[in-house]
Parts: sequence; structure tokens; C-alpha cells
Amino acid sequence: MPQPALLTVVALLGLAVGSFLNVVIYRVPRDESLVKPGSHCPHCGHAVRNRHNVPVLGWLLLRGKCADCQSPISARYPLVEAGTAALFVAVAARFGLSWELPAYLYLAAIAVALAAIDLDVMRLPDKIVLPSYGVAVVLLAPAVLAEHSWAAATRGLIAAVLLYGLYFVLAVLPRGMGGGDVKLAPLLGLYLGWLGWSSVAVGAFAGFLLGGLVGALLMVLKLADRKSRIPFGPYMLAGAFLAVFAAAPIAHWYTSLLLPTS
Ligand SMILES: [Zn+2]
Repeated sequence: MPQPALLTVVALLGLAVGSFLNVVIYRVPRDESLVKPGSHCPHCGHAVRNRHNVPVLGWLLLRGKCADCQSPISARYPLVEAGTAALFVAVAARFGLSWELPAYLYLAAIAVALAAIDLDVMRLPDKIVLPSYGVAVVLLAPAVLAEHSWAAATRGLIAAVLLYGLYFVLAVLPRGMGGGDVKLAPLLGLYLGWLGWSSVAVGAFAGFLLGGLVGALLMVLKLADRKSRIPFGPYMLAGAFLAVFAAAPIAHWYTSLLLPTS
């Protein structure tokens, strides 16, 4: 498939998936069914009309208000849809039409959902994280079988164990990681290890760096203090995606700092 066609298809897929993720983000923390009832306004309970259910455009058409009761609809809905589409396009540009592409698109989708839910309720629900291990293995299996990527798979498993160990130790420390972070870490280890050790190193380090920077910024702006709990999931996931897209140049730059050639 030519690149522009692939990116277009993946962008449309991302919009549709993003629309579903909005349902996941709202309903999973509330233990509601993802299927029934259909989309409805949380204020007046009226069903959302089909034409208003179109990703991004529906929200624009309604100008961010419910068609029935005029209650405001959060701008996060179109942002999640557009953001998922953008992340999907970036992942497709990175992997092309390959055996790994579906696995990393799946990671992108759960990353959006988990980051939003963690920001909302400071939790990374088991309902999303735990089944994702099975999904990741099923989606990566064709790459192992078709391309004999046994080295990548082995590295992924070792990295999963290593990141689990790291986060487990950090969780035992006072004011350490939450249990949800510990359960998510091996999944990211599997995905990053598949790509290479530099991805594992950059992904793990970038998560802590981003989390630390934002935490410090929030304290400077007096939006948080030392006692505030800041959800760490979004930074773990952002760090992992930074590694997916840019581990090689970052690792190269970092080693060139340590080992100057001139
Ligand atoms: Zn309404």
C-alpha cells in the first residue's frame, strides 16, 4: 500500500477508535457497560443523533453543546479523537505496513485511554491493562512467526521482567509508584524491548524525567505541593512513545555526550 493511502486509512481508523476511547474513558472507571446504552447526554439523557456521533465533526456541528439541553460537551471529546488519529498516523509512519503495526496501534489506543483515565481518577484500570498482555502477545505473534523475530521477542520478555522489577522496587519505597504503574510497566517493557535496548533505556528514563519536570513545574506554579499525588501513568506512556519514535537519535546523542569523539 502506498504511504499516503496507508496514512489516510490509519487516520480514519484513529478517529473511529478515538470516538470509542471516549466511551472507554468515561465508562470503564464507572464500571459501566461499553456497549449499552448507546451514546447519550449525561445531563438530559437524550440519545446522541447519528450525525452528531461523527468524530470531531459532530462536536463542531454542535458547537460543543448538547442538541437537546444545550449543556456544554467537553472539548476533550474531539481532542481525544483528533489526538488518537494523530498518534495512529505517527505510528503508521514509523512502522509502515508491517507485522508490528497493529500491535503498536493497539498500544497507542490504550495509551490514550489510560492516560486520560489516570488524569481523571488516578487509576490505571486492571480491566484495560491486564487483558492488554494477551492482546499484545497475540498481535506480536505473527511478526515472530513470519519474520522469525525471536531475538526481539526474547528482548521484549527480558525487558518486561526488568521494568517490572524496577517499578516493583520503586513501589515499595515510601511515596513510591502506585500499583497500577507496576502492572503497566512490564507491558511497556515488552513493547520497548521488542524495538531494542536503547528504546527500553530511553522509555524508562524519559518517563521519570517528564514526570519530574511536570511535577516541579506544578510546584513552581503552586498547583501542587510535596504532598500532592500526581498520576504517573501519562508520563510512563509519553516516555514510552518518545522512545518508540526517537530512541535511536536520543541514545546516539546521549552516548556522544558521554564519549566525545573529538
Ligand atoms: Zn443534553
